[in-house]
Amino acid sequence: MRKWTSDILTLQKFDMRLRDLEVKYRTIPQEKSRMKEELEAAAGVVRKAKEHLQNIERSIRSTQSDIAQLNDKIRKTQTQSTMVKKNAEYQAMLADIEATRTRISELETREIELYDEQENAGKALTGAEKDYSAAERAVKAELADFDTLISEIKEEVLKLKRDKKRFTTQVDLNVLEIYKRLLESDRKGKPVVPIVNGACSNCLLKVTPQTMNAARKGAVVQCDNCSHIIYDPDSQPDYE
Ligand SMILES: [Zn+2]
Repeated sequence: MRKWTSDILTLQKFDMRLRDLEVKYRTIPQEKSRMKEELEAAAGVVRKAKEHLQNIERSIRSTQSDIAQLNDKIRKTQTQSTMVKKNAEYQAMLADIEATRTRISELETREIELYDEQENAGKALTGAEKDYSAAERAVKAELADFDTLISEIKEEVLKLKRDKKRFTTQVDLNVLEIYKRLLESDRKGKPVVPIVNGACSNCLLKVTPQTMNAARKGAVVQCDNCSHIIYDPDSQPDYE
């Protein structure tokens, strides 16, 4: 391999690592907001579970108060019934008491159902609170990891830029010029790629025989199709 090739490949290694780090760095805010959303969702589940439990408890209280009122009503009717003279009136009162007792019995059945619901809702709430605590712990740990990651990335970027700057001085200026343009114009691909099986490994199209010949001789050549710098990995090293 020619010196210009190995030089530009070394430079490319610096730039690709810088690019990876940049992508990683850019996704951090998204990751952070994703975690915040997860935590908010878990908090929402807790809120709903709490509301559900409170509703059941309210229903229990209102059922109990209904039962108490109906018992009162029975007592009053019983007291009144001792004073009525007409049998029909007395019978009506007894029927009323009986109907009220049936209603109380229904309410008591409902009360028992509500206790079951209360127990289940309590369990659901405990579960939701546990999930929330776990999510909170995870998010805290991940946020701390992100802080570490950020400082690691910054440190590595600084070092890479320093080393790259030092290295760039020895790269052939002509190649460097083309390389920089390609690096700018194609933010995803690699500016310098090998010819593999007679094809450019960036765009995968076959290179022309002339280009292939030039590459074999170690000349700086660009793909006829995508203009990326291509090289023959088997080209002879330069004479020292
Ligand atoms: Zn190409």
